[in-house]
Amino acid sequence: CHNFNAGPAVLPVPVLERIREEMLCLPGVGMSVLEISHRSKTFETILSETENRLRRLLNVPETHHILFLQGGASLQFSMVPLNFLTRDGVADYIVTGSWSEKAVEEARKIGRVNIAATTKEENYARIPNQSELRLDPQAAYVHFTSNNTIFGTQWPTEPEVGTTPLVCDASSDFLSRPLDVSKYALLYAGAQKNAGPAGVTIVIVREDWLERIPGGLPTMLDYRTHVKHRSLYNTPPVFAIYVVGLVLEYLEAQGGLAAVAAASAEKAGKLYAAIDSGSFYRGTAERNSRSLMNVCFRLPNPDLEAVFLREAAANGFEGLPGHRSVGGIRASLYNALPMESVLALIDFMRDFARRHA
Ligand code: PLP
Repeated sequence: CHNFNAGPAVLPVPVLERIREEMLCLPGVGMSVLEISHRSKTFETILSETENRLRRLLNVPETHHILFLQGGASLQFSMVPLNFLTRDGVADYIVTGSWSEKAVEEARKIGRVNIAATTKEENYARIPNQSELRLDPQAAYVHFTSNNTIFGTQWPTEPEVGTTPLVCDASSDFLSRPLDVSKYALLYAGAQKNAGPAGVTIVIVREDWLERIPGGLPTMLDYRTHVKHRSLYNTPPVFAIYVVGLVLEYLEAQGGLAAVAAASAEKAGKLYAAIDSGSFYRGTAERNSRSLMNVCFRLPNPDLEAVFLREAAANGFEGLPGHRSVGGIRASLYNALPMESVLALIDFMRDFARRHA
């Protein structure tokens, strides 16, 4: 089928084939990756190779640690303020959708939140302009969501925040384009869009920021625990990390993140052009805020949308219904979705519009 799901995990076919090949027995090991000890030399090699590949691909500077944690991006909504926001402190949050709202909700349990900007009044159809940001000079950090999976908007580049530490939830566009990691104090992403299966969350954190962490946090919620133990304080998600390693190897062979970004721009460009080519389909995000990962659009009415989704499913297009909170159509174009699927969807859309316009 053509997998347009917003997650979890659209994986490249060669990666799936490699998993199948190695599932019963890792070459030279005599057992499955599901059976090896996380303290074994084999896993140590998998972990360090995965980290090294990620460092190379994303150009992560030596000033930053790479961690492989559990609990999803959702646990990061709590861990970030627990580690870096004090009860009498304040943090800036730029709110561009439901996931940013959830991050704010958790931060408010720890300290004060300044909403530096929000586009909620406009149904999150766009990313705020730099001039709209009302940053608090006392803020412990500025948090933003680089890609809004539900509303189909994406920051073209990170906001300018001066010397305040920048924190990003990059869950749904991580590994879709090169990033200047040196601009971030902390960046986190659940793996399950572009990087691998659900079960591992990647956190990249700047070494000198760790000094701000107060004592007395629960061990597992303190970033320093995971830095000190190199993501091996407790049993890590061995299989998920192994698959992330295979995905990174595959991305390197594809020419790295610049090549990935070019392919994404081409896929999204063709789909948006099809949406814009007439008045039957209407993109929900403002043009200069459009996401290259999640393309959200509407049809003239909800009844037609229901017919569209039914026919699409019958034709092998999976995962096209918009998030249940917003409705409409959402085509997610993660790295592993081939261009053929985008072209097939465009053909289907043209034919549907011809029959129903
Ligand atoms: N943040 C963003 C931008 C997301 O898209 C998602 C899930 O889709 C989450 C956070 C929540 O991630 P998790 O399910 O890993 O907690």
